[in-house]
Amino acid sequence: MEETILVVNSGSSSVKLALFDKHHRKKASALAEKLNRKDAIAHIDGNSEPIELPEGANHQQALQVLIETFTQQKRLQGPPLAIGHRVVHGGETFREAALIDTDTIAAIEKVSDLAPLHNPVNLVGIAAMQALFPSVPQVAVFDTAFHQTLPEKAYRYALPKRCYENWGVRRYGFHGTSHYFMVQEAARLFGKAVEKTSIISAHLGNGCSITAIQDGKSVDTSMGLTPLEGLVMGTRSGDVDPGLFDYLSGQGVCASDVHAMLNNESGLLGLSGHTNDMRTLCELAEQGDKPSRLAIDVFCFRLARYIGAMTASLTHLDAVVFTGGIGENSAEVRRETIKHLSLLGLTIDPELNQQHGKQSGNRVSHADSRFPILTIPTNEELVIAQEASRLASL
Ligand code: ADP
Repeated sequence: MEETILVVNSGSSSVKLALFDKHHRKKASALAEKLNRKDAIAHIDGNSEPIELPEGANHQQALQVLIETFTQQKRLQGPPLAIGHRVVHGGETFREAALIDTDTIAAIEKVSDLAPLHNPVNLVGIAAMQALFPSVPQVAVFDTAFHQTLPEKAYRYALPKRCYENWGVRRYGFHGTSHYFMVQEAARLFGKAVEKTSIISAHLGNGCSITAIQDGKSVDTSMGLTPLEGLVMGTRSGDVDPGLFDYLSGQGVCASDVHAMLNNESGLLGLSGHTNDMRTLCELAEQGDKPSRLAIDVFCFRLARYIGAMTASLTHLDAVVFTGGIGENSAEVRRETIKHLSLLGLTIDPELNQQHGKQSGNRVSHADSRFPILTIPTNEELVIAQEASRLASL
């Protein structure tokens, strides 16, 4: 019987599962999406043939169907050895992953107001797995945990003290599992100890964030109290003037509409008016579509400004690293971003960049570049599986 580790990633309207063997080799994956809608649907291993879900299936029902399917297909033979859950917000309580017990669940609930779209569904995933596998150790791996090493000057906003002390208003940072993986991989590539490796890590997917990592530790990051701050993203604005709320309320737009606009209608989608998909935007811009070009320009310029800003937190730099769907695959975004950074001595090698660093040990920078620029495919699921094994003492 194959021994497995299960990774569960419950999003606001989707749930992803990944099955690893005990040596952390990925064996299977599953995705259920459009949950709580009539057309809820699931796929195993990205197969085009869908798996039937009950109409309007919720997270719990979807998880049950996916586990049954894994079992029928003999991918899962008996309970897994451990289950790792992605949990978005760990507040200041969790500096690292934690075994799930009643205290852990209470602490995750306590910070749910800070991630209302995510923490409650993360907890649904945990409860569903506890019901299906009551005796299997479960582990929570937090997006925020890696950033708990931020110094106070980087995590405090210039707001009255009561905002922090009474309501926990501070920068928490997100995508921590991905940024953690980046520094592990960069250290491996350079043959250095993680504790001596310093990078600027740009995670560019639908959500985007950038982190300065000094000697293996997160010391500054672009996302803040929520995952809205910082870079331009697929549908999120990133940084705007907070005066916007007051100004727009004077124009008759209420705070909840501004919130929805900043989260769902902004970013690449808002600027282009077409889509949040970077691939499509690059194609449209190539055909002369000006709003698509503008969206790419704003995205790359903001990113370049942040790369510059992150150097203020570092005393040395081993590499600038790009990851996520855009970071790994868009030669255009990397080129247009790095163009702004010639004063820092960063230069791209056009050919290596076009090959996404695949023929050059991940490097896309020119030999003359002051610092190496790398592309590294992220693997958050693997980190979650490793953390689940570690905490379950496998
Ligand atoms: P998520 O944050 O949802 O995991 P991904 O990391 O998969 O998202 O990134 C999605 C983004 O990556 C989309 O904007 C998509 O267009 C972009 N992307 C994927 N492949 C390419 C490519 N070849 N060129 C440019 N952008 C790409």
